[in-house]
Amino acid sequence: AKIKEVEFVKSSARAKDCPKHDRPEFAILGRSNVGKSSLINALVRKKDVALTSKKPGKTKLINHFLVNKSWYFVDLPGYGFAKAPEAARMDWSAFTKGFFLNRDTLVAVLLLVDASVPPQKIDLDCANWLGRNNIPMTFVFTKCDKMKASKGKRTDENLRDFQQFIQENYRVQPPWILTSSVTGFGRDELLLHMSQLRNY
Ligand code: GDP
Repeated sequence: AKIKEVEFVKSSARAKDCPKHDRPEFAILGRSNVGKSSLINALVRKKDVALTSKKPGKTKLINHFLVNKSWYFVDLPGYGFAKAPEAARMDWSAFTKGFFLNRDTLVAVLLLVDASVPPQKIDLDCANWLGRNNIPMTFVFTKCDKMKASKGKRTDENLRDFQQFIQENYRVQPPWILTSSVTGFGRDELLLHMSQLRNY
């Protein structure tokens, strides 16, 4: 399941400009600041792979990376910038939605959720939208090393609250994986999970 090689392929401004291929692909999605770049770098064990999408002008693009010449990682724009005006936010999700709804090669969405804060409405909305549209997803909790969160609640309490949300909203519960990019916790589990989904 190891990642030996990652090759940047393309940044696409529209869903229909995305590379056409017949390999499995995983989309990685989450609120900005959720720890997406850190997680990608931890998975790949490189410092600068995910940074492509952080370069000015690339933050709103769909970025395709080819892994081990056999499958793709798709870095999608982070959602829910608190400061973005409502209109811009809607626009952004429409763009991302277009990708999800028309992508035959998509194996699963890795929906990143910050375990160090209580469940956020925008994450729940995103999860609900993916669920309603039958898009397979895995919840990937980030920052699980932070046991004590800044706003009072502990990480395990946040996770319990989130789990309750999942139980109430899904008949078939999506898999979930706990990770930390600081300690490397969950890294192997996530890589194994993705390799199982690819071979499924
Ligand atoms: P992105 O905007 O989603 O790409 O988020 P970044 O990867 O840039 O991370 C946002 C902030 O969270 C940075 O200050 C990181 O150092 C911090 N961070 C990311 N992952 C972890 C983690 O696993 N544990 C802890 N404690 N902090 C993290």
